[in-house]
Amino acid sequence: MDRFKAWVVEKTETGQALTFRDFDAADLMDGDVTVRVTHSTVNYKDGLAMTGRSPVVRRFPMIPGIDFSGVVEASDHPNYAPGDAVILTGWGVGETHLGAYAERARVKGDWLVPLPEGLDAADAMAIGTAGYTAMLCLMALEHHGARPGDGPALVTGASGGVGSVAVALLARAGWQVIASTGRAGEEDYLRGLGATEILDRAELSSPGKPLAKERWAVAVDAVGSVTLANVLAGTKADGAVAACGLAQGMDLPTSVAPFILRGVSLLGINSVTTPLPKRRAAWARLASDLDRTALAAMTTTVPLAEVDRLAERILSGGVRGRTVVTVP
Ligand code: NDP
Repeated sequence: MDRFKAWVVEKTETGQALTFRDFDAADLMDGDVTVRVTHSTVNYKDGLAMTGRSPVVRRFPMIPGIDFSGVVEASDHPNYAPGDAVILTGWGVGETHLGAYAERARVKGDWLVPLPEGLDAADAMAIGTAGYTAMLCLMALEHHGARPGDGPALVTGASGGVGSVAVALLARAGWQVIASTGRAGEEDYLRGLGATEILDRAELSSPGKPLAKERWAVAVDAVGSVTLANVLAGTKADGAVAACGLAQGMDLPTSVAPFILRGVSLLGINSVTTPLPKRRAAWARLASDLDRTALAAMTTTVPLAEVDRLAERILSGGVRGRTVVTVP
């Protein structure tokens, strides 16, 4: 296939433009594995790339889409052969390297993870970068030594992609989950994923005290900014917060009080360049631990040709759970 369909971000005089057009295979970037993309997904970062709201795209033209699942078509990499089912998340794909919103992708084999047993390609992208990041958060909290007996687990941005998977994973692991959301109408949805308490996100989104009442032992925070400061302030002594997102903002207006007076730990989560052994471990655990009924409940599907419709919506917090993009 010399030409294939792709979404392409091009630089214009006023910013950038996004079009769905034919793309020449000869213009794909260097890589030792060519993949027929079957599924992708919509993450917050994809919204930024498609709209240009933040300078996520670092090379033009760019095919956006930071993650995909698919089947290897051609490979010069020793670990992959034609027909292998693979997953890719991160590594700058959709930012500096031509990405996933296309029928083909050429990438480095070292970036790929074999599709783990027990997951199909659609499940893998229902999980996607957001769900994989939620698992990295859970693994970081466990590595810290946190256990469900320590007290409740808070999840912020709970109705979003990272949040929904985090709620389901923590509940399945035995945690009592407090889901913080700005969408009161999603209470039944969040309880269905395993949350036992709903917290109005307004309680966390305005500046609060450096230390507040101790309410949760651990937290997964997808929101950042003032919310994360309040999450830290409400964390029990010796608890931990896995911080992975910035939906409210990139700043962190906090003090050292939670750290030096309560021994709270702030655990940073970066899914983009996680080394391969940890990636494989995270995907294996997702395959074994994530409740499939919960995954189905949080997932909607959109065809590749219509993915642009979700760009603004995910940035305004209007997408619930996860979205699978099907590639013809
Ligand atoms: P989503 O848009 O699906 O979820 C974000 C959620 O945050 C929204 O659904 C909403 O939840 C809440 N939210 C949105 N705006 C605000 C606001 N102004 N104040 C408070 N809460 C808000 O995005 P994703 O789940 O895909 O990503 C979540 C965050 O994690 C993003 O910032 C993303 O960039 C980051 N991320 C980081 C990764 C890493 O490697 N560190 C990897 C993947 C994602 P609700 O309506 O329930 O309140």
